[in-house]
Amino acid sequence: MPGLDDLYQQLILDHYRRPRHRGTLSEPTIEVDQQNPLCGDELHITVRIVDDQITEIAHAGEGCSISQSSASMMSDAVVGHSVADALAMIEHFRRVMHGEIVADETILGDAIALEGVAKYPVRIKCALLSWMALKDGLINGTPTAQEDQ
Ligand code: ZN
Repeated sequence: MPGLDDLYQQLILDHYRRPRHRGTLSEPTIEVDQQNPLCGDELHITVRIVDDQITEIAHAGEGCSISQSSASMMSDAVVGHSVADALAMIEHFRRVMHGEIVADETILGDAIALEGVAKYPVRIKCALLSWMALKDGLINGTPTAQEDQ
């Protein structure tokens, strides 16, 4: 991506090549599939929540370097945090991507490297995909949990 700070670009590539929390949890508390048809990105996110804390998270799927590295960074950022903290991080990242606020590294961790993506509207959905998937899962629960309704 031209125009992105070199250090940030290296971080994005590093998460793309060596994704953290890659895989699928068995018997997750939350399971979400999210797609970005504009780019062809597909993500499968599984989360384990114990006592309102995200104790484990994993992401699987295929997609562009931005969507894949963002899923890795998102997983790194939220693991070990409460559901409420994770939702606050997601909202912070969403607002950064929409150019509403300046990114705070203490909140986002490595995902700060994605701040420059906000300048490329066509890639914003790629960066947001995993975060919106997690938000959807945290708020709506798993599809299987809704089968009883
Ligand atoms: Zn993409």
